[in-house]
Amino acid sequence: MLSSYLIEFKTRSRSVLNIFRIYFIFGFFGWLFFGLVEFSNVAVNILWLAVSFSSASFMLYFMLSDQFRFNIYTSLWCLSHLIFITVEILTPSLDFLLRTFTLYVFIHMTILAYIANRRKKKARNIGYGIISLALYIPLFLAVLQAYFLIGEKNTEIVVGLSILSAATSYSLVALGFITMLLVLERNAYESQAHRDALTGLYNRWGLDSAFDLISAQSLRENTEVSAIICDIDFFKTVNDTYGHDIGDTVLKSCALMIHKVVRASDLCSRYGGEEFIVILPKTDILGAKTVADKIRSKVESMEIQIPDGTVQLTVSLGVSCQKKEIDIDSLIKMADDALYQAKSNGRNQVCIYSE
Ligand code: GH3
Ligand code: MG
Ligand code: MG
Repeated sequence: MLSSYLIEFKTRSRSVLNIFRIYFIFGFFGWLFFGLVEFSNVAVNILWLAVSFSSASFMLYFMLSDQFRFNIYTSLWCLSHLIFITVEILTPSLDFLLRTFTLYVFIHMTILAYIANRRKKKARNIGYGIISLALYIPLFLAVLQAYFLIGEKNTEIVVGLSILSAATSYSLVALGFITMLLVLERNAYESQAHRDALTGLYNRWGLDSAFDLISAQSLRENTEVSAIICDIDFFKTVNDTYGHDIGDTVLKSCALMIHKVVRASDLCSRYGGEEFIVILPKTDILGAKTVADKIRSKVESMEIQIPDGTVQLTVSLGVSCQKKEIDIDSLIKMADDALYQAKSNGRNQVCIYSE
């Protein structure tokens, strides 16, 4: 569970990082050529700036939409870039180039800003917010460019605005991407800190954090919250007989079984060495007892494959329930008392907390 999440994070951020590199290679060479042309004192020529900016923005689309499949939108995106970049290269005059570039910026930055905004909302990552800001700036400057081109007919100001537009958007996109990657990384570490490394279930900290939401919801809706503690019987014998590694395999199988039996809205956690806690929102004591019975019988009938054959287990379970003033510590304490009862009564059974 957790490992697959981390793998997804790694592959995702790596592919994003690769396009990010290409984006900046385009940007870098664009600026380099622009600088060389300027330095060699050839007449002002923003052809390289326009072409590199358009090519880099072409990449940005794939970076933001996080997909490389060819569909109607990506085909249109490619076609539009092919047309604009060809026109930019073959343009007969500076005035025409500036008009083409301004139109390019206007159309394409609107599309990119829209995608970045959507991603920001979906991914809840401020990095996308910075990128969309990086796209609004050239969009705003394109309006000014159009005014100076058509109204004032002042190409020098338009060249200046184009340089300003490309420079600010390059640096802000860079900042946005670095922020996006840092946020992704932070989320992955946070998720890691909430999970038990062996089973992928919540650890105590993860359970506490997720529980806050459940207790608030239960108070609002006036519903019960139940808890089940499940402790493997004579687990020490498993370790002593087969070794610690097999013990770990058994723990994983047991965790997986519990996770399969309960609902997706229930919280599963590994509480201690061979103890698991399930929190069941909107569930009364009888509902929780039914779930606990199911876990008990599923574990009993489970045959865990190990290199030397199979291992069979039994579990003892304690069940508790609270309404209104729900406190995780007292809920767990009550379930633990019931578990103690189940152990004293001979194990492999479910007991309900009673005062
Ligand atoms: P009972 O029926 O009374 O619960 O007996 P038990 O042997 O299960 O209980 P006890 O609490 O005495 O032993 C729990 C054992 O769980 C002790 C420890 O070696 C083992 N254990 C705890 N954490 C891990 C772990 O991460 N991996 C493995 N393999 N074993 C663990
Ligand atoms: Mg125990
Ligand atoms: Mg035990």
